[in-house]
Amino acid sequence: MFLGIVKTKGIVINQANSKEADKVLTILTPDLGKIAVVVKGARKSSSKLAMSELFVFLDLVLYKNTGDIYVLNSAQIIEMFYNLRIDVEKIYYLTYICKLVCDIGTENQNSFELMQLLLNTIYLYSEGKKNNMFLAVVFQIRLLRILGFNPKLNKCACCGNEELVSFSIKYNSLICAQCSKQDTGSISFSKSTINALKYILLSDSKKIFSFNISDSVLSELKLFIKIYLYEKLEKEYDIDRYLKNYLI
Ligand SMILES: [Zn+2]
Repeated sequence: MFLGIVKTKGIVINQANSKEADKVLTILTPDLGKIAVVVKGARKSSSKLAMSELFVFLDLVLYKNTGDIYVLNSAQIIEMFYNLRIDVEKIYYLTYICKLVCDIGTENQNSFELMQLLLNTIYLYSEGKKNNMFLAVVFQIRLLRILGFNPKLNKCACCGNEELVSFSIKYNSLICAQCSKQDTGSISFSKSTINALKYILLSDSKKIFSFNISDSVLSELKLFIKIYLYEKLEKEYDIDRYLKNYLI
């Protein structure tokens, strides 16, 4: 067990009140993975309260004693993302995204790629130039690669055919028309959806949000990611249902 002072950076992905005036933050860091951090007296101090807000990007000095939990020694706010805080809809989208990150993240796991993806996504929400649902869908699809699911995209996993028309969860692959008839659970994709899926999964991480898609492609990708995550993580991640609770 590591004892002493630890320096790292992190994004606050969840926060809860704790005993007295403390808060317990869930923070995603590149090197320590997802960690719990106690902020003593957070509710009594406006500067500590600001750094306990969701989606804040922090430079952290932490202390770990004999317990499992880190205690905040000091922190500097690198980016507060003020623009987000006045847009309720964006906050709900990002809360959904952070909940997903909370579920899949673990401690002591190299999370550099996940952190980079999350930070880029938060930045783009705060910038406000891209459609909210587009950002959430691209985030979730790229997440598949980080989770190591790596669907087969170049040819049909059943027969090798390169004319692909749908996605098979069973084979974790794009598949051809012939094989789609046998796999009744496969999800039909348009040519544009196949191209978008390939682009999101195969491009350099800096470029994955730099394209535009039609509403119909977005709908197909949204359905795909909902079914895929349900199959792989055995839990429902339905962004529409999640948002419906807040955005009526
Ligand atoms: Zn086939």
